[in-house]
Amino acid sequence: MTTVHGSTRREFLAAGASGVAGAALFAACRRPRDAGEGASETGTLVTRTLGRTGLKVPIVSIGSAYEPGLVSAALDAGLTYVHTSGSYADQNHERMLNRVFRGRPRESFLVGSSPDFPEYRVEGGGLSEDLGTRADASTIAPFCEGSLQRLGVAHLDLYFLASINDPATVLHEPYIKAYEDLKRAGKIRFAGIATHRNEPAVIRAAVKSGFWDVVLTAFNFRQSHREEVRAAIHEAAEAGVGIIAMKTQAGVYWDPLRLRQIDMKAALRWVLRDEHVHSTVPAFSNHDELEEDLAVARDPALRTEEERGLRQGEAAGLTGLYCQQCGACVPQCPARADVPALMRAHMYAVGHGRPHHARHVLRGWTPADIPCTNCSSCGVRCALGFDVRDRALAVAGVLDAQPARG
Ligand code: SF4
Ligand code: SF4
Repeated sequence: MTTVHGSTRREFLAAGASGVAGAALFAACRRPRDAGEGASETGTLVTRTLGRTGLKVPIVSIGSAYEPGLVSAALDAGLTYVHTSGSYADQNHERMLNRVFRGRPRESFLVGSSPDFPEYRVEGGGLSEDLGTRADASTIAPFCEGSLQRLGVAHLDLYFLASINDPATVLHEPYIKAYEDLKRAGKIRFAGIATHRNEPAVIRAAVKSGFWDVVLTAFNFRQSHREEVRAAIHEAAEAGVGIIAMKTQAGVYWDPLRLRQIDMKAALRWVLRDEHVHSTVPAFSNHDELEEDLAVARDPALRTEEERGLRQGEAAGLTGLYCQQCGACVPQCPARADVPALMRAHMYAVGHGRPHHARHVLRGWTPADIPCTNCSSCGVRCALGFDVRDRALAVAGVLDAQPARG
């Protein structure tokens, strides 16, 4: 069984049970996975219509699952949408999916991807930026062709313009035209944008464009601005935009030592309680976690005790690992360290147990590019209370352990 640091979600819950102070607060997390939920084992998967695409999709989709057997099991269980990117695992995620898709009728699954623009690469530790309007739109078609070849499919159901923070990027005509051309050529069915920073403004720009069919957005119970994100999601869904939520598990753990795991089912149900969210791409890395997410897909009603449990980490003074990318830290750092990128990398490395993904966020960086490695005191006050320097040094250790690829 594939694990994160050798343990499954449930084993981590058990580890939490043997913890010290505050263990009682996490009782909801430790309850038997299926207690009182017998119907969820055999019920049908709840589906919603992905906005004006008309695609009827289960409320849980397949995000960053990296094993062919796990993706196959998820498809066999009835999940249909598989999300990938040209940037995942140096294009190897798409190649892995090719093996999964072989032999399956094309109409039995939906797949979406996104280009991996070199403009995302950050030189020398400077402040990372939105894709912006600098990328050469003529490269979008070749990126798409590459994804089609690696995936072994003739068309993509969804094709996202990813890492969008700025409404101007969403409205940039050359990008829209490139996506229109792909649609016309039958290479993609629907166009989307993906955002995990400044989400409300980006989502509203997608509505304003009248072009983008789907928005993939960060949305979870830990976001300070979650109600703003929710309001934008409502507006977009009412306008016919399909909504897929990511980062639903909010960094997975309450603490960097991974002793306290967030109640993953509760976190997913918190997102899905909003019917304007049409589907989600929760991370699952083993079959136990897939089963948990399937149980939610069959029975998404958030229990009162689960909702209460989602607040108990904060009540215990824990900050979690999810960086909401608000940028409040950036002007506080004299060295202008790219704290949001560092904390995002930290979340992937520690919360999700995916150091490779963390290195991908900081492509081209070495520990020397992190100003915190030469800074003895940190006056930065993170909006969520992170010890920024501590976490940045942990990220430096991740970069040290294996140089960034690509
Ligand atoms: S580190 Fe904290 S202040 Fe900075 S972007 Fe993340 S959540 Fe916001
Ligand atoms: S330790 Fe804090 S103040 Fe120093 S470079 Fe890092 S973020 Fe900036």
